[in-house]
Amino acid sequence: ISVSVFAKGDVIYVGTNAEFAPFEYLEKNNIVGFDIDLLNAISKETGLEFKIQDMAFDGLLPALQTKKVDMVIAGMTATPEREKAVAFSKPYFKAKQVVITKGEDKSLKSFKDLSGKKVGVMLGFTGDTVVSEIKGVKVERFNAAYAAILALSQNKIDAVVLDSEPAKNYTANNKQFVIANIPAEEEDYAIAFRKNDKELINKVNAALDKIKANGEYDKILKKYFK
Ligand code: GLN
Repeated sequence: ISVSVFAKGDVIYVGTNAEFAPFEYLEKNNIVGFDIDLLNAISKETGLEFKIQDMAFDGLLPALQTKKVDMVIAGMTATPEREKAVAFSKPYFKAKQVVITKGEDKSLKSFKDLSGKKVGVMLGFTGDTVVSEIKGVKVERFNAAYAAILALSQNKIDAVVLDSEPAKNYTANNKQFVIANIPAEEEDYAIAFRKNDKELINKVNAALDKIKANGEYDKILKKYFK
């Protein structure tokens, strides 16, 4: 077991998946978003330099474990399953899964009502786990959210389950889509690390505390969630 020691001025490679607006997305070929601003604020506090690498969401944790990257920030939910393999920072955002339908579906009162329906999820997202646990559901797995939304608009599937904020982003400019208001469990987004990198985890957690206390975090919140 080797432990990487990171100090001021070191370059730390950070994996993300820039298909998850407003947390990370491409704007004129640059990766921008809430998570990127948070990362910059952490960089200012710690003196660590971050280099971001864009990759498929389900490749992020493997890349972390094979040391292709040292951290992952990707609107990633800290789940007990993932915690078996990696360590998470303190939570930095609360989210939940929502159901998107084309037009209102009044039969949808809870996630269980998705039973018997064709539901689009993104491979390896927490929504995949939530939907896969529902009895009688027909799960359709997609590699990207926009592909699932496209399939929904083409009536190829009945619903899409996705994180609340990206769901709002996808549906905001399109009146055909409705976000069903049904109860969902709260999820915590957190930054992922290799379990051994305790020093780095502590530095980032201390920076997160500072950013929350000094108003920097609220500034970033306001910028993306008006
Ligand atoms: N929060 C979801 C998850 O952790 C989706 C994250 C993402 O697509 N970037 O699986």
